[in-house]
Amino acid sequence: MTLRPILIHPDPRLKTVAEPVPEITDEIRRLADDMLETMYDAPGIGLAAPQIGRLSRLLVMDAAKEEETAQPMVLINPQVTWASDMRSVYEEGCLSIPEQFADVERPAEVEVRWLGLDGKTHSQRFDGLWATCVQHEIDHLDGKLFIDYLKPMKRQMITRRMVKLKRERARG
Ligand SMILES: [Zn+2]
Repeated sequence: MTLRPILIHPDPRLKTVAEPVPEITDEIRRLADDMLETMYDAPGIGLAAPQIGRLSRLLVMDAAKEEETAQPMVLINPQVTWASDMRSVYEEGCLSIPEQFADVERPAEVEVRWLGLDGKTHSQRFDGLWATCVQHEIDHLDGKLFIDYLKPMKRQMITRRMVKLKRERARG
C-alpha cells in the first residue's frame, strides 16, 4: 500500500465532477487500499478519489468512534437514494482544507446505494456522523466542498488561508 498525496484547496481537480468507475479491476482495488491507508494516516474519517487527483467516483470512509473497532468502507459510484426531512448540524472539516472547521447543515439520515469491491450493489441507511461523512464525500465526487455551504465571506477567508498554506508548503 502507498500513501498518496492529498490535494489542498484551491485546486481545479477538487471542483470537477468525477467519472463513474466502469468496472472493479485490480487497479481499483489497489486505489481503494491506498486511499484507506492515506485516510487513516492523515488521520481522517473519509477520503474521496478526487482528493488524491483521481477523478473517479470512489470514496472510502470509517466514521467508527474511537472506542469501536475499525469499520473501513469502500463506496464505488455511490448515490443518495433517500434523504430525511430532518436535518442535523455537524462541525465539518476536510483533509483538503486542513485545520479549518465550520458548521454545515445536512439531512440527518440518508440511504445510499453503491457498488462494492465485491462487484455487488449495496444499499444502507446512514445516520449520525456516518450520514454527514457520506454526504460530504459524495459531494467531493460532484466537485463540491463543505465550504461551498458557507457564506461567501467565510468561504473566501478560508480559501485565502489555504492559498497562503500552499505557498508556505511549496517553499518547504
Ligand atoms: Zn473533504
